[in-house]
Amino acid sequence: MKSYDVIVIGSGLGGLETAYILAKNGMKVCVLERTPVLGGCLQTFKRGSHLFDTGFHYVGGLQEGGPLHRLFGYFDLLELPWQRMDDCFDEVTVDDKTVFFAQGYEHFTDEFLRAFPKAKAELTNYTALLKEVGAHIFDNFKPRSAETFFNTSLFGRSAKAFLDETITDRQLRDCLAGTSLKMELGEQLPLYTYAQINNSFIESAWRINGGGEQIARHLAASVEAMGGEVRTRAEVTELVECDGKIGEVEINGQERVACRHVISNAHPAHTLTLIKDSALIRNIYRRRINSMANTFGMFTANLSLKPGRVPYCNHNKYLYEQADLWNYQAGKTDRVLASYYPDTVAPDGSCTQIDLLTPMTWDEVAAWAEMPMGKRGQSYVDMKRAKTEACVRLASKRIPELADAIEKDYTSTPLSYRHYTNTSFGSAYGLRKDFSNPMLTVMTPKTPVPNLFLTGQNLNLHGILGVSMTSFFTAAELIGMETATKELFIND
Ligand SMILES: Cc1cc2nc3c(=O)[nH]c(=O)nc-3n(C[C@H](O)[C@H](O)[C@H](O)COP(=O)(O)OP(=O)(O)OC[C@H]3O[C@@H](n4cnc5c(N)ncnc54)[C@H](O)[C@@H]3O)c2cc1C
Repeated sequence: MKSYDVIVIGSGLGGLETAYILAKNGMKVCVLERTPVLGGCLQTFKRGSHLFDTGFHYVGGLQEGGPLHRLFGYFDLLELPWQRMDDCFDEVTVDDKTVFFAQGYEHFTDEFLRAFPKAKAELTNYTALLKEVGAHIFDNFKPRSAETFFNTSLFGRSAKAFLDETITDRQLRDCLAGTSLKMELGEQLPLYTYAQINNSFIESAWRINGGGEQIARHLAASVEAMGGEVRTRAEVTELVECDGKIGEVEINGQERVACRHVISNAHPAHTLTLIKDSALIRNIYRRRINSMANTFGMFTANLSLKPGRVPYCNHNKYLYEQADLWNYQAGKTDRVLASYYPDTVAPDGSCTQIDLLTPMTWDEVAAWAEMPMGKRGQSYVDMKRAKTEACVRLASKRIPELADAIEKDYTSTPLSYRHYTNTSFGSAYGLRKDFSNPMLTVMTPKTPVPNLFLTGQNLNLHGILGVSMTSFFTAAELIGMETATKELFIND
């Protein structure tokens, strides 16, 4: 039987980065991915000449000196074809008001002052908090344990309450929160999550030419170059507990490999289903994990466009129409993100594809949940068609050429995300963190099984930056934080 120091379940960003850190520190790792394609939410797919992203679209904090620059420097990802977005990287339209999010705090404040000239003091207060979070982003890598940090930091404060208490104008509050389809706005959202994500993009905003899957492929190649293995079509079907730890991992229901440690990048609820017989995992723990709420899912319409119609735009457009931003109501298409692809620009300045994203809850697709992919019937097709049309209608307010330019659309729902990433209820950002209960909703990598650990967006922070940080907390469980991060801070 083959034997490894560490088996990593799943090749999402969290799995590959954790494997990278451990391989770099001399451990024999093997990453097992159930689908044919690496990357989880970084996967891309091709239709004709069009390459579409499924999840990730842009990152923040990648400027020299920025947090993602430091992390991606460590992971050897800086050479990928990153492209800086426009100075004004996001455009937010809430009903009749349009505001631009600019890179750099001075520019950011100036843009907002143009739309809200009386809000200087409030904006100064707002940006000071975001900057403060950015300045201390790596504090939790220092001697104080990650566990303490997550329980005592702004994770215990409400993002919504902060905005309600410090920003008087409702429209300004909505505009400030308006790029937030990249998290789940809601009463429960911790201020730390809100501030950390918003800060990183205001520091700098980037897209990648050629799709997010390159990140996964590059990480996998690095893991292999360091002696690790990365296998696709290798679904972990059972974790075999023996003498108080996981000793063997079953792959595709037939093959077994031995290991000293297991790290799961899969959703925690799914991870528990893999341990069928356990002396260590009590029912109360299973019930707790299974009852934790998940963030909403996403509906995505990947659109291919007729050439020469829609001008390319090097920033995103967020649109809201009569929306209560902090309370998404299932079935209502009152918010949409339009995202462009940098490498689809024709010589005439037009673009040939656009993605439209809008939240979608499990309830909205539950009726088709037990039906196999591709066989969900006409009602499912009709629902997706209506949703696509509603998204196009809303996006057309700022992209008037769009409706007549669509050549083909390819759509995905929370059912697609469940299929491709195994995430519970097709959730986009994993387990929902709740400021009022960080102890129970912000997870550490540890599980009741001493050699089984978790990694990825379900633990504490989602998104490329958040997951990259989390991979160090998980790796630290095996090799210690000082060892895990020694090269990260080498020049400090
Ligand atoms: C629609 C959407 C848009 C987004 N946009 C952005 C963005 O613009 N910027 C940003 O920073 N972030 C964005 N995100 C968030 C970001 O993509 C995720 O936070 C991150 O990629 C999650 O990585 P992960 O490693 O935690 O998990 P995942 O990507 O979910 O990976 C988990 C992997 O585990 C595998 N797996 C599960 N079970 C098993 C098993 N039994 N055996 C083997 N393998 C298994 C799955 O197949 C999958 O590959 C977006 C997410 C979504 C859904």
